[in-house]
Amino acid sequence: MGKVKKSDIMEILDSYDKSDITIATLGSHTALHILRGAKQEGFKTAVVCEKGKEVPYERFGVADEFIFVDEYKDIVKEEVQEKLRSLNAIVVPHGSFVAYAGLSNVEDKFNVPMFGNRDILRWEAERDKEREMITKAEIRMPNKYDKPEDIDKAVMVKFPGARGGQGYFICSSFDEFNEKIDEMKARDWITDDDVKDAHIEEYVCGTNFCIHYFYSALNDEVEVLGMDSRYETNIDGIVRIPAQDQIEANLSPSYVVSGNHPVVIRESLLPKVFENGDKLVESAKELVAPGMNGPFCLQCLVNDDREIVIFEMSARIDGGTNSFMNGSAYSYIQFGEEMSMGRRISREIKNAIAQDKLDVIIT
Ligand code: ADP
Repeated sequence: MGKVKKSDIMEILDSYDKSDITIATLGSHTALHILRGAKQEGFKTAVVCEKGKEVPYERFGVADEFIFVDEYKDIVKEEVQEKLRSLNAIVVPHGSFVAYAGLSNVEDKFNVPMFGNRDILRWEAERDKEREMITKAEIRMPNKYDKPEDIDKAVMVKFPGARGGQGYFICSSFDEFNEKIDEMKARDWITDDDVKDAHIEEYVCGTNFCIHYFYSALNDEVEVLGMDSRYETNIDGIVRIPAQDQIEANLSPSYVVSGNHPVVIRESLLPKVFENGDKLVESAKELVAPGMNGPFCLQCLVNDDREIVIFEMSARIDGGTNSFMNGSAYSYIQFGEEMSMGRRISREIKNAIAQDKLDVIIT
C-alpha cells in the first residue's frame, strides 16, 4: 500500500468549509488542552474516544462532538475517517494517537488532514533515525557504545520497544553488564533477542528538562513554549528509600512516566536552548521536508559542565505539555496570555486559514 499523498489531503482540504473547521484528536495523552485550546481560538472540537474513556472530555467540557470507538486503534477505520472528514476535521496527532493507530497506518491509511509533518513521526520512533537527526544538527547526545566490551564508565543500557524503561539498567563495566543482563533475564524483563539489540549509552548524571518547542512554519521561527521534568514510576519512588534499605529491597528501576512537573531552566542556559531548537529544525528540514512543523520536544539532561545533553526527542506534541495547560513562564513571556501548546497549534491553524496557507502546515 502506498503512502497517503499530500495531493489527496489537499483535495480533501479544498472541499472543507474553512469557516467551519473542527479540531479533532484521539481522547488520550494531551487531548484536554488540544481541544480546550482549539475552543479558545474559536474552533469546534471533536474527540475520538474509546468507550468508557470519555469521562475527562465530558467532565471538563472540551469536546463538542464525541466519536465513540470500541478500541483506540479504530480511529483508522474508514467510517471514523469518513465522519471526521464530514466534520471538516483537522486531526492533531499526539503520542497515543501514533501508538494506538500504528505508525504505518498513519502513514498509509489515514486519509484525513493532519496538523504537522506526517513523515517525521518515523524519525522519533526509530532510535537510529532519531540519533541521525539530532547528531546531524550537531547537538550533544550521550555517547553511544557499539559493544558491551567497550564499557569504561557508567552507562545506561536500554532495550527496544516502548516498555517504560523496564529492564533498563546502569552499569560501569563489561562484567557488571553481564551480571545485570542475567538478573533482568531471570526476572523475565528481557529476552536473549533483546540482549542482541541492547542500546548502550553514556550515563549522564544531571537534571532532567523536557523542552517544548513550537516551530511556526508560517513565521519560520522556533518558540520555546514550556518545560517539564518527568515524574517516573518506580525510580522516583526508589530514591525516597534510604540507601541501606534500597540495597536490601533489591528493587530494579523502571521509568514509566506517571506525571510531569513544570520547571524553568537557569536563564544563562537559554541561548543554548534556542540554538538547539533552531539547529534541529534545520536538520529536520534537510532530512524529511518540510521538517518539524509545529510542536516538538527535546528531552535533556543538564550535567555539571552545564552541557545540555539530549537523550530523546518527540517530533510532535509531547505529553509533558500537560504541565502548562494554562500557559508556562515562557509562553507568558512570549505571548502575554495563557498559551498552552494545544492553543498554539490552533492559533497556527487559524493564522494559516486567514493567510490561505493551510497547505504549509497540513499533511
Ligand atoms: P523510554 O523512552 O524507553 O521510557 P528514555 O530514553 O526516556 O526511555 O529513558 C528513561 C529515563 O531514563 C529518562 O527519563 C531519563 O531520566 C533517564 N535516562 C535516559 N537516558 C539517560 C542517559 N543517557 N543518562 C542518564 N539518564 C538517562
